[in-house]
Amino acid sequence: KKIEPKKSEYVIASDTAFAPFEFQNTDNKYEGIDVDLLNKAAEMQGFKLKWNHIGFAGAVQAVQGNQADAMIAGMTITDERKQSFDFSDPYFESGIQLAIKKDNDEIKTYADLKGKKVGAKIGTESADFLQKNKAKYGYTIKQYDTADGLYDSVRGGQIDAIMDDYPVIGYAISQGQELATPIKRESGGSYGFAVKKGQAPELLEMFNEALTEMKRTGEYDKILDKYIADGN
Ligand code: GLN
Repeated sequence: KKIEPKKSEYVIASDTAFAPFEFQNTDNKYEGIDVDLLNKAAEMQGFKLKWNHIGFAGAVQAVQGNQADAMIAGMTITDERKQSFDFSDPYFESGIQLAIKKDNDEIKTYADLKGKKVGAKIGTESADFLQKNKAKYGYTIKQYDTADGLYDSVRGGQIDAIMDDYPVIGYAISQGQELATPIKRESGGSYGFAVKKGQAPELLEMFNEALTEMKRTGEYDKILDKYIADGN
């Protein structure tokens, strides 16, 4: 089914570095699962996109402030976010996980984080999780604007651990980053394409139609396989 776009172009906000969902390749072009899925959906449904890779918290603000029509940024669908966003059908099952430097043998459980510094990206599920469990485990939180800063800090030893989405940590490790994940990941949380609540329902509809079709034809698996080896 083809849905009629209501705008000549939709502005899409996204993260700057959230590999394998969006990241700059060696030609400084953005690619990744989110980028490929939405570009393909636009091609299939016949709508135009303008990408703005501005960071996760920036994307949330851009959509809420009407500077962008939608965001795709490995964004977890949560009840809290549903108060201000409408989401597409879920397109990827994720979950968050703790990561430490590979040679760190002090941290094996959350309780080992007592007195340690733990980092996460501003405005994310991981930052929320750390905030919620801070009193229980007795760590301090450092917030970062970008993944680069976050990952550099844990590898450089400025912080003891980070919390991030498991496929992103998995991808970093597969790319040779010396990290380890001693604690089982927190389950749950699916990614959705999001618009500001009550706005641009046709955009979600077009995405959902294309997603269903991509799953049927195998295009969806093809895109995932391009970036994630063995289902990660
Ligand atoms: N999935 C996480 C969230 O929604 C992180 C997203 C991101 O950092 N791009 O908060």
